[in-house]
Parts: sequence; structure tokens; C-alpha cells
Amino acid sequence: LKNIDAQKRKELEQETAATRDALTGVFNRAVFKYHVEMHMSENEELEDSTLLLLDIDNFKQINDTYGHAEGDHVIKQLSNALMKTFRRKDLLGRFGGDEFMVFLKNVTNREVINRRIEEFCAEFKKNSEYQCTCSIGIATAKKENFSYEEVLKKADDALYRSKKDGKNRYTYYE
Ligand code: GH3
Ligand code: MG
Repeated sequence: LKNIDAQKRKELEQETAATRDALTGVFNRAVFKYHVEMHMSENEELEDSTLLLLDIDNFKQINDTYGHAEGDHVIKQLSNALMKTFRRKDLLGRFGGDEFMVFLKNVTNREVINRRIEEFCAEFKKNSEYQCTCSIGIATAKKENFSYEEVLKKADDALYRSKKDGKNRYTYYE
């Protein structure tokens, strides 16, 4: 029995390593995409959903001033704030570097989204010694003709706007 346990544990560990980002425990980029596409294709009571793309502001300064390990710590704080703020059924992913993604299943109401984002930003700021902020781009995932690449591109355009308009803000793709 002990051997089976060890075998099972090893399998689970390998599975987790392949699907989760090593530093933060959220989905890696490919697995996040997989789960979004699964949701958009399988759900019978499907509504439009929302994709958020987040990028920490001036993160290079944290690395340069306090070192890479402190930078890693800030990245973990951001993912912890995401986990604390969003619903269990929402999907969290790390796109890479200081970029994260959230997929809000069956939610498009801006009041609801804005409230969650404000909550998240306050949580992130509260736990960060460096008063870190981030910029966010928001795009709607329409249930008709859904294309992951298209929604991601829109969220990225909106994120770019947030950065350009002075950072520490969220922007909806128009
Ligand atoms: P901006 O406000 O425009 O987003 O500028 P920024 O300084 O945050 O720079 P940018 O987002 O373009 O780059 C993110 C940097 O994050 C680049 C890289 O040096 C650093 N980085 C990427 N992955 C990791 C990581 O796993 N740990 C740490 N500590 N740093 C990382
Ligand atoms: Mg950044």
C-alpha cells in the first residue's frame, strides 16, 4: 500500500508541475488557455465571460532595487491577492514574468467586475511593502464565435492603454 501511495503521490506531483506555475501555484499559460476553451465549449448554460490581463507596474525597479528574490516575493503576493479576491470557480493563470490572467466565468457586469478589481488592488497594496500597483486590461469573451486569441489580443490592447494612460488603472477594450 505504501508503494502505491508513493506512486500516486509522484504522479500527482508530476501532474501539478506540468499544469501549475512553479512560483505561484496558479495555472501556467497553456493550461489556463485549455481551461478557458473547455469552459467556452462545454458549458450548456453558457453566458458571456470576461478576461482580465494584469501586469505589475514598474516591476523591474523592484528587482533592481531589492533583488530578484524580493521580486519573486511580490509576484507571490500578487497571486495570493488574486486567490483571495476572486471566486473559486474563476480561473487564475500566470502568463509569464509579471503578467497574470483572470477568467471570470459567466460575468460581464461592469459594476461587479469593477468592485472585484478594487478589492483585489486594495488587497495587493495592503500586503505589499513597496506599495506595488498593477495595470489591467479587460475584454469580453463572447459565447458566439469564441476565439481565445482574439479575446487575449483585446485584453492586451486594453492593458496597453492602461499603461499608456499612466498605469495603476483598469481599462475595458472598446
Ligand atoms: P511596466 O510598468 O511597463 O510593466 O514596466 P515593468 O518594469 O514592470 O517591466 P515589464 O513588465 O516589461 O517587465 C517585467 C520584468 O519582470 C522583466 C523581468 O526582468 C522580470 N521578471 C520576469 N519574470 C520574473 C520572475 O519570475 N521573477 C522576478 N523576480 N522577476 C521576473
Ligand atoms: Mg510590468
